[in-house]
Amino acid sequence: MKRKTVMKAKKEQRRKHRDNHKYIFVIGGVMSGVGKGIAASSLGTLLHAKGFDVNLAKVDPYLNVDAGTMNPTEHGEVFVLNSGIETDQDMGNYERFLNRDLMREDYMTSGMVYKHVIDKERNLGYGGKCVEAVPHIRDEIVSRYEHAAKINESEISIIEIGGTVGDYQNIMFIEAARVLKIKHPDDVIFIMVSYLPIPSKIGEMKTRPTQNAVNQLSGYGVHTDIIIARSEVPVDKKRKEKIGVACNIPEENVISAPDIDSVYDVPLNFEKDKIGEIVLKSLKLEKRRGPGLNAWKKFADAVKNTEKEINIAIVGKYFSTGDFVLTDSYVSVLEAIKYSAYAQKVKPKIHTINANDFEKTNPDYSILDSFDGIIVPGGFGEKGIEGKLNVIRYARENKIPYFGLCYGMQLMTIEYARNVLGLEGAQTAEINPNAPHLIIDIMPDQKKKLLEKNFGASMRLGSYPAKIKIGTLAHTAYKNSSIVERHRHRYEVNPEYIERLTNAGLIFSGTSPDEKLMEIAELPTSVHPFFLGTQFHPEFLARPLSPHPLFTQFIKASKDKRSTVPVWGQA
Ligand code: GLN
Repeated sequence: MKRKTVMKAKKEQRRKHRDNHKYIFVIGGVMSGVGKGIAASSLGTLLHAKGFDVNLAKVDPYLNVDAGTMNPTEHGEVFVLNSGIETDQDMGNYERFLNRDLMREDYMTSGMVYKHVIDKERNLGYGGKCVEAVPHIRDEIVSRYEHAAKINESEISIIEIGGTVGDYQNIMFIEAARVLKIKHPDDVIFIMVSYLPIPSKIGEMKTRPTQNAVNQLSGYGVHTDIIIARSEVPVDKKRKEKIGVACNIPEENVISAPDIDSVYDVPLNFEKDKIGEIVLKSLKLEKRRGPGLNAWKKFADAVKNTEKEINIAIVGKYFSTGDFVLTDSYVSVLEAIKYSAYAQKVKPKIHTINANDFEKTNPDYSILDSFDGIIVPGGFGEKGIEGKLNVIRYARENKIPYFGLCYGMQLMTIEYARNVLGLEGAQTAEINPNAPHLIIDIMPDQKKKLLEKNFGASMRLGSYPAKIKIGTLAHTAYKNSSIVERHRHRYEVNPEYIERLTNAGLIFSGTSPDEKLMEIAELPTSVHPFFLGTQFHPEFLARPLSPHPLFTQFIKASKDKRSTVPVWGQA
């Protein structure tokens, strides 16, 4: 067959599938934290490899209208999509595993749905009826599931329902999925990601909690089609049989998902139990030839087999909660580092450093010398600021590669103003609006929102274009003069100081197309191997199969650190 004919046939096939959009709901059983998001993402990777257009979506039961107002220490990183919506960090995993941008409609919270329904009621949108959770909230969710499917380019939507079966909060989302199945009986399936404990004193894998979770879901009128059985070790045939009989599903629909060291192996591991084929069969989809998993496998192998290490420090404040150290608050940054490092055959050893440690009168900086690169990521508020400024100064003066992300770029500009320009009291308006030199100031339209105490979604959010100056480090990295990056900030470099900063040697190598907003600041490579900050968040666009160019350039400089850096004072 001619290529054109093949393409046409494929297009026609896709149209047919789009009209019969398929929905896979992923629900957690037994307990939380067993990797439902990674399971959903991995299934997405697999189906994509099999030639299907897939999108992933998350429904979160909380009443927040979006994730923007949530504290990262409690809820993990706030992830931002192109459209500017602030979402749960799972959306980041989805985009990374699918290597695809997701839409605003791929994220839904109870708050979003309730707000819409209540606003509609206030506007007499229900014609005088009594407005209730069932049917109004439920039907609003059903129509959102359908609407997202309609406007999505994909053929299959994998929708993860937050929480666990039995939670009170997510019932309405499950109920809406049940109704969706009645409307589209051949196009909806349910996957439960469950946990099979092996109590140490008993020493045997127990299936009963999973059976109970499946029963509970049946009680809601939802039949489980496939069980992803998470456990410490692979699930044996005997238990698969037992679960199959008890849960009314074929034994092969019980997928063994043992603990593994690297999350990137999950799609490959799933394939061993043929989950892709089983899903296609359940959705009555025919097999196709897809791009396959080779590129993914290459990346997953690099993660396991790379030995040469580099040491990267992240200096932040959202690390600790009680006795535990969290890295969830910076998950996209950690991932972005890994993708660029593995692509250059180095394994990143990431150190989380508390900015507070550098606030003392005479902090011990020597530990910073042991790092090949330092990152100050995004952040808000006053805590740890002086510590971060001290670290940035040390990195600049000692030529340690430094990468500032959003707040990290604003602070690097303040540090330069204070210590190179000599502007004492240089500050951001976020900390002290009355400081003598507001190097970082609020944008006028944001000021209005703050005065009205309208904090949710009040920042500059989502994708904006920027232009890059030729001959700069940023240009070397991007190899392009126009870029689009995702933002999440309220403050900006104050235009009144740009000339002075530039004259003192700081280069604004990226700006908004009208040159009003500073997007990237850097020092020339003749002065420092890598001293660069971005007002945007490059980490949101880093993907395993397409690492971010700025992270790649940063890792390159970190790799070279010891061999190329001249001794301070000789440059
Ligand atoms: N707090 C700063 C601002 O609002 C930086 C935000 C960030 O790092 N995401 O502009």
